[in-house]
Amino acid sequence: MDRFDEFAKHYIDLEFSGNTVSEYMSDMLNDMENDINDYISDEKSVPTKNAYNRITDYINKSISDYSDKVKEYINKIVNKTIKMEDKWITGMLSASIAADIIIPKINFMPFNGKITIGKFLDDAFASIYTSYDTTIRTAYMFKSQLSSLTDTLKNRNNNINSRASQTSQGIIPSVAKNTDRYVMARDKSIKMWTWISMLDIATCISCGDLSGTTYTDLSNAPPCPLHDRCRCYLYPDKASQPSYYEWFEKQDDSYKYKILGKTRYNLYKSGSKVKNFVNNGKKLTLEEIFSKKT
Ligand SMILES: [Zn+2]
Repeated sequence: MDRFDEFAKHYIDLEFSGNTVSEYMSDMLNDMENDINDYISDEKSVPTKNAYNRITDYINKSISDYSDKVKEYINKIVNKTIKMEDKWITGMLSASIAADIIIPKINFMPFNGKITIGKFLDDAFASIYTSYDTTIRTAYMFKSQLSSLTDTLKNRNNNINSRASQTSQGIIPSVAKNTDRYVMARDKSIKMWTWISMLDIATCISCGDLSGTTYTDLSNAPPCPLHDRCRCYLYPDKASQPSYYEWFEKQDDSYKYKILGKTRYNLYKSGSKVKNFVNNGKKLTLEEIFSKKT
């Protein structure tokens, strides 16, 4: 296996290892909700302001206990990943940088270039609290039975939970890729990086647009991962990869249709370039595409 293949295999393995984190997150959220729901179902209604305070205090306490547990677990697994990844990438590059790696702090680790892992976890638990608080407040203000509100609550929480476990699936690959970037930035022997996207039906056109682009200065490269569950990575050498658009042109029409969707596909068929559907790593909305055309 040459170095390029080993990089690809390594990053694919990392994608799979994110499942463990995601399952843990999902189990914890389920346990937490069962605890809280048991407490709420004993209450039936929220007759007074005191009752409202007591119930939301309980919920707040429960959420903060689970949040601490999840954070401790994620911290542990993130630190382990950073150490292993540091070893892996340093070994791969076999450069003279092994001596002075400073492990980046988790709270400063960019998750997808926009948020940190700490902020992601805080936001997830804050939205769960808001969801409960809205329900208890409604029951208090409108004197409704708590049981009549639990369906709405369940739907709201299901949405938050699936988003949280989906996002937490990306934590391991994200940490690994950011560690690699951190280590590579210090290796002065690397003269060029190439953005590698997995080219298949699941590749979004924002990532596709970056495929094969090269950078002589890492600080000019877009954040990688570019979005949740992004499978791209930066390869520290000149690699020959077909551009996304060369790859796209070779696919059959039904495949192209699946990738672009109806409107963009029709635009493409009537002569628009796929490259014009994206700008600077951002997929343009239909409105933006049309205003660009006129
Ligand atoms: Zn990507």
